[in-house]
Amino acid sequence: MSYTIGIDLGGTNIVAGLVDEKYRLLDKAAVKTQAEKGFEYITDNMAKLTATLLGRAGLQKEQVSSIGIGSPGAMNKATGTLIFAGNLDWHNVPLGPAVEKKTGIRTLIANDADCAALGEFVAGAAAEDESMALITIGTGVGSGIVSGGHLFSPAGSCAPELGHVTLIAGGEPCTCGRRGCAEAYLSFSALIRDANRAADVTPDSMLAQLRERGEALNGKNIFDCAKSGDPAAKGLVDRFIELMGEFLGSVENAFGVRAIVIGGGISKEGDWFRRRVYDAMLPNVFAGETFAPALRMAALGNDAGVIGAAALEQYQ
Ligand SMILES: [Zn+2]
Repeated sequence: MSYTIGIDLGGTNIVAGLVDEKYRLLDKAAVKTQAEKGFEYITDNMAKLTATLLGRAGLQKEQVSSIGIGSPGAMNKATGTLIFAGNLDWHNVPLGPAVEKKTGIRTLIANDADCAALGEFVAGAAAEDESMALITIGTGVGSGIVSGGHLFSPAGSCAPELGHVTLIAGGEPCTCGRRGCAEAYLSFSALIRDANRAADVTPDSMLAQLRERGEALNGKNIFDCAKSGDPAAKGLVDRFIELMGEFLGSVENAFGVRAIVIGGGISKEGDWFRRRVYDAMLPNVFAGETFAPALRMAALGNDAGVIGAAALEQYQ
């Protein structure tokens, strides 16, 4: 039996997991990221988490074939260099080599959304599919694509970033500096922006009433208001689903994957949402229903990133 370790480097927590060759997650360990303490501190913690997992499983480092790290930001996977990661304030740091040196185990790095996609592909919602795109909807819109037995992420580029393809030309400003990106319409941040605008002009709406009670609007309570029949919230959610349909149709027309998996915070909405988005997507798929991808909700939650990072050596 051989093992790999996956590490999910998040803004809040670093989570490491021990995974077997069937991509079963055997054990997990986590520490607070504490980005302000810097690169040496964080890579030391990654080495300590690795030692913890090995110790608890009674394994020697020689029994672990690789460590995979999923990180936010842009990176050079060939050298293991993280070029930038905004929320960590890191620029051109040798993430892979540093962890490899501290653990004595071969270390690979990849984008965190790519790792989440790989996790769902090897052990989650798309485990039966030949190819897939993961679209995560949370604070932002992330993406990862697995096709032809590998992560689709061409050498020398940090694409794809499907959250930053144009959905509405000249539209809302995006966090990336452009206008009209998918992320500017299909993230929770965008939905909350629109719900606050709607609450401003419809003081009778449930959205406005929630706010009056001092509750900040968030993805969940906006969806809950829509499900309770509040016309203002329902209008927003209907539009959100319509745009998801446009966006996922374009994703399919670009990549022709056999499954699209929706992950991130929105995956908690479950099957009613999946069915409505599927119906909205179908008219936008070039080849129609025969070649339409299966639409699935992510199955692994936060474990997807750890499991996918552990699978990097196989699918990089
Ligand atoms: Zn953008």
